[in-house]
Amino acid sequence: MKWEKYLFPASIEEALAMLEEHQGRARVIAGGTDLVPELKRREREVECLVDISRLEELKGIQLEGDVIRVGASVTHQQLAASDLIRERATALAEGAHAVGSPQIRYMGTVGGNIVNAQPAADTAIPLMALDAEAEIVSCEGSRAEPLESLYVRPGESTVDASTEILVALRFRGLDGNEGSAFARLAKRKALALPILNAAVVASLNGAGTAFEEVRLALGPVALIPFRARKAEEALRGKAIETEAIASALEIASEEAQPRSNPLRATREYRQEMVRVLLRRALQRAVESAQS
Ligand SMILES: Cc1cc2nc3c(=O)[nH]c(=O)nc-3n(C[C@H](O)[C@H](O)[C@H](O)COP(=O)(O)OP(=O)(O)OC[C@H]3O[C@@H](n4cnc5c(N)ncnc54)[C@H](O)[C@@H]3O)c2cc1C
Repeated sequence: MKWEKYLFPASIEEALAMLEEHQGRARVIAGGTDLVPELKRREREVECLVDISRLEELKGIQLEGDVIRVGASVTHQQLAASDLIRERATALAEGAHAVGSPQIRYMGTVGGNIVNAQPAADTAIPLMALDAEAEIVSCEGSRAEPLESLYVRPGESTVDASTEILVALRFRGLDGNEGSAFARLAKRKALALPILNAAVVASLNGAGTAFEEVRLALGPVALIPFRARKAEEALRGKAIETEAIASALEIASEEAQPRSNPLRATREYRQEMVRVLLRRALQRAVESAQS
């Protein structure tokens, strides 16, 4: 695990200039909870690390009109403890709370969790259900992209951390007749990869008796975080009734493609658990919307 330089830029512009100067041989580091073990295992070689953890522009959770903006350097602990996130994006607070151990939650950031591009990252799944958008900057300028489009395959993001910085994630905060929830299945409570995780956002009609729109996100059931769009479509406009939910969850279980994995149980078991986790999360999201 060797790097020659460890730099602390004073601004995003300076960080981008440092990356540019090293022409692909430097890389952004935030909490280091993913990157440092990767460097130790020699899965990556870098000459220079550009530490963005002190940049004020990447910190903080703000409400701008109806939109919640979460800085990329916000830690899992901060997300889980934020009143705004707990109230208006409950699934994200719950997902962040499920990450690793207290040490990892205090160090690890939401930006790192996204750029590390694991299909079951515990903040990525709720952010997918919240339909989040990412703000990214490079020397060429800034761009906004749907979160979903940042994923290529496990461990590979379209955000190139040797030239670009993920600045923030933005999504609409949930309102009165909307609710969200996160559910997770793992072998142990601490430090375990999820066998499956799920996040649900439910928007109900004014009377709270029917679904207007539902978003269902799941991991790891594909190479990237997955939205069960056929099941979402099946629930649109339906009364909140056992049969409609059971038939949509059947669809979700079919469109999800979990693979058998010695660390994560068999395909058949996980497909069955897709139904169970989504039902639990959907029920809590509906209860939250109705209250
Ligand atoms: C013991 C242990 C348990 C864990 N348990 C869980 C778990 O339960 N659930 C879970 O989801 N994750 C878990 N993780 C993974 C990890 O903690 C998270 O992915 C964390 O959020 C990564 O954030 P970081 O700030 O530490 O990223 P870093 O390690 O600093 O960076 C990760 C990657 O993202 C890039 N990067 C970071 N920030 C930016 C940015 N703003 N712009 C561009 N590129 C950036 C880096 O170059 C690097 O490639 C665990 C890790 C460990 C070591």
